[in-house]
Amino acid sequence: MPTYADFDKINLLTVIEGCLINETPLRIGVGRESYLGSAVDIGPLKIRISGRDVPYIPGSSLKGSFRSLAESLARAQGLYVHDPWDFETAEDEKEKNDYCIICGIFGSTGLASHVRIYDAYPRRDPLLFIKTGVSIDRDFRGARPGALFIEQQVIPKIEWYFRMDVINIKLFPEPEEDRGKLLRQVLDLLVNGIVQVGARKTVGYGLLRLTDGVYKVYEIKEGRLKQTRTEAIKGGSQ
Ligand SMILES: [Zn+2]
Repeated sequence: MPTYADFDKINLLTVIEGCLINETPLRIGVGRESYLGSAVDIGPLKIRISGRDVPYIPGSSLKGSFRSLAESLARAQGLYVHDPWDFETAEDEKEKNDYCIICGIFGSTGLASHVRIYDAYPRRDPLLFIKTGVSIDRDFRGARPGALFIEQQVIPKIEWYFRMDVINIKLFPEPEEDRGKLLRQVLDLLVNGIVQVGARKTVGYGLLRLTDGVYKVYEIKEGRLKQTRTEAIKGGSQ
């Protein structure tokens, strides 16, 4: 019975870094999608750096994409997966201290995440945007079918810094258990440019590719966390 509650001790830390490229336009909005699928938000999330507003990809968005991808991969492999918003099951897992593979990686209400994904900031300046849509009603708050909206997007081929930490799950050089194998599959899809983030996924927006990926492994040796391995992440390994 997997409890996965091993945070009292970090035995193994894997740091994955690299460059994310959005192959297609990217739109990580501040708002939300209406029930009809039409966008109601205005532009990408931005953070103020040195007096300028710079768009970024929130780590939480990346984590959400990785999680749902891992869910579909797990389902395809016949593994048990529950809905991320199924709090009843999450509570049940917490009570029994027996977590599913997805919560065992990404965490749940009862279990901390074994994966930490950082906000991804653009590598170069300036960033360009395109605007689509023309009319906007500032008083309009709900969803109205057929209404047009102003929308800002990040153009394709922008480079973003990527960093992800994985705690106590062995991924490299070879994964040891199911969680490691599943995470490696997600990483492979990222290297192959098949992971999507943000809005408008149905029209192919937000396709991300990981390039120049490097992993570093830190292990406990003689009571201290030591870097034991650094290697490039090769593409298309599966
Ligand atoms: Zn679960």
